[in-house]
This record gives sequence, structure tokens and C-alpha cells, in this order.
Amino acid sequence: MKILVINAGSSSIKYQLMDLEDVHHCTLLASGLVEKIGEPVGRVNHKIYVDGQERKFVEEEPLPTHHEGMSRVVALLTDPDKGVIRDAAEVQGVGHRVLSCGEVYTDTVRVDAKVKATIREFFPLGPLHNPPNLMGIDVAEEFFPNAPQVAVFDTAFHQTMPPKAFLYAVPYEWYTKYRLRKYGFHGTSHKFIAQETAEFLGKPLAQTNLISIHLGNGCSMAAIRGGKCVDTTMGVTPLEGLMMGTRSGDIDPAALEYVMDQTGMDIHQMVNALNKKSGLKGVCGVNDMREVVEAAAAGNAQAETALQMFCYRIQKYIGAYLAVVPALDAIVFTAGIGQNSAPVRERICAGLEHLGLRLDLAKNAARSDDPRAIQQAGAPIQILVLPTNEELQIALETKQIIDGP
Ligand code: AMP
Repeated sequence: MKILVINAGSSSIKYQLMDLEDVHHCTLLASGLVEKIGEPVGRVNHKIYVDGQERKFVEEEPLPTHHEGMSRVVALLTDPDKGVIRDAAEVQGVGHRVLSCGEVYTDTVRVDAKVKATIREFFPLGPLHNPPNLMGIDVAEEFFPNAPQVAVFDTAFHQTMPPKAFLYAVPYEWYTKYRLRKYGFHGTSHKFIAQETAEFLGKPLAQTNLISIHLGNGCSMAAIRGGKCVDTTMGVTPLEGLMMGTRSGDIDPAALEYVMDQTGMDIHQMVNALNKKSGLKGVCGVNDMREVVEAAAAGNAQAETALQMFCYRIQKYIGAYLAVVPALDAIVFTAGIGQNSAPVRERICAGLEHLGLRLDLAKNAARSDDPRAIQQAGAPIQILVLPTNEELQIALETKQIIDGP
């Protein structure tokens, strides 16, 4: 079944076209990124994969709205030279990454008027993502009128958290009136990792207990008991929790008032600084973990401090989640940093031997793109490195919705 996966941002559309049957039978046909929509010159980076070969095409032209952006995607996908399908009608389903559906949906749904209204209802809680996500659905409906549109929510996997985990200790009516609570994000990745962990361990998902550690541009962890999320680090927005590339993660909320008084910043400038000028970048000036690790190794003290802070906070959450996930099977590293940075994994595991986390340094250092276990033989808790694939998870869930129960 050919499924198009779309992640629409405010000025971009990321896409992947896959032909898939199940998690083990999936072929990536094409992928790409439309960017700078609305700017004087837009750009499309389009790739196709034919007979194991990747071919790249770059186009530059004005793309005033998402409509023109999607129009180029369809033209490229169906181009006799640059494309992989003859007709847009070959696309049998479109899966959309959507940030937030609040508490309304606990799983992936087929898009209808009610689903769109819900996505709109949550614009205030996902102001940067929900509006363009809905725009992506609208334009996809135009260009693929016969393909079911499916919404896969980044928050849905975390809906199994109990109130004691998702409520903030603030006036209760902030929750009842304004829906303020922890929603969590990266749900598609954490769900995929939970399933992959169960498969790797040869256990039923319902009996698999893990801590999923997603370390990419954004970073979050999920405590997963019996395949279900019981807690996660991100909150009502993706700013809470771990230290990230440019995001602060947890901070004393009263610090905001203090710094605003000192600097004259307003609340929007403050939240912008916490989202875009903090984290690794705020502490040592760069947000790419490769550069941070290199600078620390070269003796840059601020990079070393940033690295220690980044790893220390993950260690603290591992401790916290060990307390809420009994009989832990595994901690699992994934995403750009989690999959690729042996030094970061080593620093996180160092000193946690008393909790049952015993890293095998040689296995950790060996480079590989395959799912792998990197703990010492006989250790009580497995330490896994599993590649995440959010697009594949979106495509699989889209297919499931189309196939029906
Ligand atoms: P993602 O959001 O999953 O694509 O992850 C992107 C991030 O992964 C980048 O910002 C890098 O900081 C990080 N990354 C990728 N490769 C490496 C590596 N070999 N070592 C450290 N960090 C890496």
C-alpha cells in the first residue's frame, strides 16, 4: 500500500512516500522537504530511491502558500524522470503528523470534520504546530481527494498517564477551565520504540517495561509500563523536562519573573529565549551535540559543563522513572544523539551501576545502525540502542486505519 506521510510546519512540508505491508516490509520510494514557503524564493529538496540508488533534485521558485508547495510535491512525485508514481491517485492514504489533540483522542484517527475541529480547538495549546498541521491536511485533501487522510498525534501515546503524573500542582480549575496539564510529545517515537523493544526482547508488548530516551534536536523520556506510557518529561508544551539543543527544559518558574525584571524582557521574549536561546546553545554557544562533544574533548570548559548538565538531568530522570516502572527490562537510547553518540551514552550510564545499568564500553563504542544491546553480559537491565522511525510509525498507523479492525 502506498502511503504518503506529511509533516507540515509553518513554512515547510516534510514528506515521505512509502510502499509498505508491515514494519518489516516497507520500501521508501521518495522523500523531501519543501521550505521557505511564503518567502520570496521557496526551495524543494526532493529525493527518490530507485534500485537502491538515491537521486536528489533541488528546485527553487516562489511558493507563496502551502497549496503551491504541495502542488510541487505532487508534480515531482509524478514526474516521469524525477518521480516514482504515474498518478497522484496511486497514493492510497495520507498520514499527517499532528502535534496535539489534547485529551480528545487517545489514538490515531481518520480525519473528518470533527477531527479538524479538534485540531483547531487546540491551536492555543500548539500555536506553532497545530495551525500548519491543519493546513497540511487541507491541501492534501485537495491533491489526494480519494485517499483517506489520517491524523497521528504526537500527544496520543501519553494519554495513558494517570492524573498524578499529568496534573500540575496549581489551582485545579486551570486544568478544568484551560486544560492545563502535562501532555507530553514525541509520542510517535516513544510508541515505536516500545514496540521495537518488545520485539527485540522477544516479549509481548503488554509485558514490556522500559525507559525510552529520545535524544535528538528535541529531547524527552517516557516511562513505559506494560507497553503503556505512565510518565514523560515534556509537559503542556515541548519545553519541559530534559535540557535540549536550544530549550531549557525544567526551570523554576519564578526565575522568569526575576530575569524579566532584570532585563525588561516581556513574557513572549522570555519564552522565546527559553525555547531558542537556552539548552546546550545557551550554556556553551552551540546546539549540535557533535560540536559540544568535540569542544569538551578539546578542553573547552563551558562545553564540558553543558555536556555534564545534559547527561546529569537524564540520569536524574532515569532514577525517577526506575521508581515508577518496576521490573524494568531496558533503557533505550534513540534519535540523533541517542543512536550516534557513544560518549553521551557512556556519560549517562556512568555511576548508575548500582541501579543495574552496566554498560559494556566496547559494545557502546562500536558503530552500527542496527538495533543492538550494549550492556555487560549478565546485567539485570538491558541497555539498548534502537533507531526510531516516526515516519514509518505514521505510515503503519495510517495503513491500520485504512485496513480497519
Ligand atoms: P534528530 O532530531 O533525531 O534528527 O537529531 C538531530 C541531532 O542529533 C543533531 O542536532 C545532533 O546534535 C545529533 N547528532 C547526530 N549525529 C550525532 C553524533 N554522531 N554525535 C552526537 N550527536 C549527533
